[in-house]
Amino acid sequence: MPLIAVDGPAASGKGTIARALGRHFGVPHLDTGALYRAVALSAIRAGLDLGDGRAVGAKAAALDLSLLEDPELRGAQTGEAASRVSALPEVRAALLAFQKAFAAQPAGAVLDGRDIGTVIAPEADAKLFVTAAPEIRAHRRFLELTAAGRDVAEAQVLADIRARDARDMGRSDAPLRQADDADLLDTSELDIAAAVRKAVELVSRQLDRVS
Ligand code: C5P
Repeated sequence: MPLIAVDGPAASGKGTIARALGRHFGVPHLDTGALYRAVALSAIRAGLDLGDGRAVGAKAAALDLSLLEDPELRGAQTGEAASRVSALPEVRAALLAFQKAFAAQPAGAVLDGRDIGTVIAPEADAKLFVTAAPEIRAHRRFLELTAAGRDVAEAQVLADIRARDARDMGRSDAPLRQADDADLLDTSELDIAAAVRKAVELVSRQLDRVS
């Protein structure tokens, strides 16, 4: 069964696309960003310094998976904190084995994140790098947040997205980048249905090449 890697920046549509790919190809899906968000949430609640690799790494090593269902998981503050704790090598190391085991399931898998095609599953059968212009990603995130009843300014959401991109691409451990063998999917001009159709087409073509 296929192993599919989906990477890309915040609010590019990669999560929705990865979930749809999981359904289409009949493989389980893991949103790896949720793991970093859960680590961030447990660190915040424990009052830890988000730059303290040892302390936050210990939280990641003993991650409480019930946090994946926490209503605060998707909040902007959690995303921002996740991008900070994800730069800590201790945190990345602690989450590595779980993600690699998920990727190694005989049933196949689709994982989405920032370093799936480069670090977690460089051997993946198909890889996508999903992106969109920062203004478009910010607008989508703004609509999501306001639909969830949050009071946010779109300009602030754009500033946060730019800061998150810079941090995710600039860190030394597993920075966000397109794997050499990943297909680029720019969703700036595509609605969800069209982006999913395109993703299925690109992945199918890559899978045909390996089979
Ligand atoms: O995808 P999402 O916005 O939920 O991810 C939250 C943060 O977790 C990202 O900004 C990124 O810093 C981090 N992350 C990561 N590696 C992954 C997935 C997410 O560093 N594979």
